[in-house]
Amino acid sequence: MSEEQFSILLVDDDEVDRLTVKRALKKAGVTANLMEAKNGENAMAKLVNGIAKLEVRDTNLVAVSETNYFSSTINHPIKFDLILLDYLLPDFDGLHLIAKIKALNLDLPIIVLTGQGDEEIAVEMMKAGAADYLVKSKIEPDNLAKAISNAIRIHRAEQAVQLANQRLRATNELLMLKNQELERQQQQIKLQNIQLQESYNLKSEFLATMSHELRTPMNAIMGFSQLLLRQYPAPLSEQQQNLVQRIFNNSKNLLDMINEMLDFSKIEAGKLELKPQKFALNYLIELTVEELRSLAVQKQLELITDINLTDTYLIQDSNSLKRTLINLLSNAIKFTESGTVTVKAEEIDENKIAISVTDTGIGIAPEDRDKIFQAFRQADQTFTRQHAGTGLGLAITQSLVKMMGGTISLESELGKGATFTVEIPRKYDV
Ligand code: ADP
Repeated sequence: MSEEQFSILLVDDDEVDRLTVKRALKKAGVTANLMEAKNGENAMAKLVNGIAKLEVRDTNLVAVSETNYFSSTINHPIKFDLILLDYLLPDFDGLHLIAKIKALNLDLPIIVLTGQGDEEIAVEMMKAGAADYLVKSKIEPDNLAKAISNAIRIHRAEQAVQLANQRLRATNELLMLKNQELERQQQQIKLQNIQLQESYNLKSEFLATMSHELRTPMNAIMGFSQLLLRQYPAPLSEQQQNLVQRIFNNSKNLLDMINEMLDFSKIEAGKLELKPQKFALNYLIELTVEELRSLAVQKQLELITDINLTDTYLIQDSNSLKRTLINLLSNAIKFTESGTVTVKAEEIDENKIAISVTDTGIGIAPEDRDKIFQAFRQADQTFTRQHAGTGLGLAITQSLVKMMGGTISLESELGKGATFTVEIPRKYDV
């Protein structure tokens, strides 16, 4: 038997029988708070009140009898661990009492004490909810102690399982609730995504339309200022020439920006189609470099090409590659105040070409490296920045390189220049 002290309610009208039980308990060394009831009514009262005053009579066995029930000194609620129940009580029978106890929602193990030959009744009682039965005449310290400890142990195990099940149910319910909440959030995100996509499309359409509409008047401004610069039939004063030249230059800058926006919106809308054709890369590079040489000369920068190809031919979209080169070269020139800008081309293997643009300019800080490939993003986002631009060049370049089946990478150290390297397949794979 364990050291734990159980609280037991012994319900029996026969004093001798009660004494037998008490003796058996004592002999078996069961440490118990024992409360006695002589009939069903009395047992119910004790169970309902749940508060009893206990008198310690014995260090081993604590018993409370009807007579001294209210005369004790210790006052605390009794939570019974077990009921020992005589089947035949003067007021109502055991079955009746079990039903009443169940109706009270009192979850307690009950051991029924029956007379000789009452086994059938005992089975009925167990069906009604009793945990075990003992034939009174056969009560021995050992079997009584064992029956009590088994009934309490099994009952506690059942309660633990019940509690675990309850907790599991509660956790399940919580999980279901969380799932529902997650589903709701997912729906909301889906909806927001649709809305975002819609506004994104609207923005792209707006960009495309605006850029397109702005191009026509801009071309007219440039055309007329070029006409004026020809100074025919009447010559212009030096100041007039200067002003018209500035009109032309600024219009050209604006037109470049507008074209960039148009290209970007086309790429975003998936409306840009590549037209692969065979061309000589060295020729394309030399041509592009010459187109931009004047910009480098203006800043007294050295513009170098270093082409090292055994086979110069590519089957790619030459317009996209030229656009890529122009973007990288004009950035290199724009962000370099002195030194050189070098365009290098070489074969990585027979199917892959690397083209790099290296400058000795301001360089790019590590934290800006991802940012600058995003549309409308620049390393210097302040209003007072020195270099003009839309922040679309690298976003367009990256998209074009990706469409050509290639990749773009950047190596740079702040203040020591930058190298943008484009790797593309020699042959465009449809
Ligand atoms: P934009 O040149 O119109 O600002 P880009 O997309 O071409 O837009 O470039 C984004 C930013 O990346 C630039 O504003 C600049 O801060 C940085 N950048 C690009 N190329 C270079 C370079 N060669 N050296 C230093 N910074 C560069």
